[in-house]
Amino acid sequence: MKSAKAVFLDRDGVVNEMNTGRVRQVNGPDDVHLLPGTAEAIRGLAEAGYRVYVVTNQGGVGLGYMSLADLEAVHKRLEELLAKKGARLDGIAFCPHKPDYGCACRKPQPGMLLELAKRHRLSLSESYMIGDRESDIAAGRAAGTRTIRVNGAADRSKGRADGSREGAGSARRPRRHGRASFTADWNVSSLLEAAVLIVHRLAEERGLP
Ligand SMILES: [Mg+2]
Ligand SMILES: [Zn+2]
Repeated sequence: MKSAKAVFLDRDGVVNEMNTGRVRQVNGPDDVHLLPGTAEAIRGLAEAGYRVYVVTNQGGVGLGYMSLADLEAVHKRLEELLAKKGARLDGIAFCPHKPDYGCACRKPQPGMLLELAKRHRLSLSESYMIGDRESDIAAGRAAGTRTIRVNGAADRSKGRADGSREGAGSARRPRRHGRASFTADWNVSSLLEAAVLIVHRLAEERGLP
């Protein structure tokens, strides 16, 4: 059986609104608002032959800010909103662990991607990780995918192994240390733009006009 290609999507700030006027946290179904173009992007990727998975860090579960039932309700709403626009996900993977738990699934670790790849026989080198934070890009790189950064929000990930910190507004600046681990292959402004890039590249690789 030929292995499938996939696009892994970060959730908050890529698929649905985060840090917008009306959404500061996504702790329940009423906090789920699709970003413009999300359903179109997912439909387009599926039509091009990609499996589409959400991979999301949900440390709030481990920290006790939300229950697993709350998280399930959020994901159910997300799937309902997508279904209304004719789009569906092939799966949603989440890491419920506390940020300092040291698990293998919390991005920037690649565990969620590796697990999905194993379970669904995905070709990671033909797959993409799309995210709005360095930790998303680092997870994609560690898993061996291509990476696309959607620059929706300033990066707040901190406490890197080299001790450096990312200040607001410096997300796109080239860095001397560890650049390869979290510098995306492409930077775009929306998930839809990322999907168009992926579909165009696929056509180029197949030698189509
Ligand atoms: Mg995000
Ligand atoms: Zn985890």
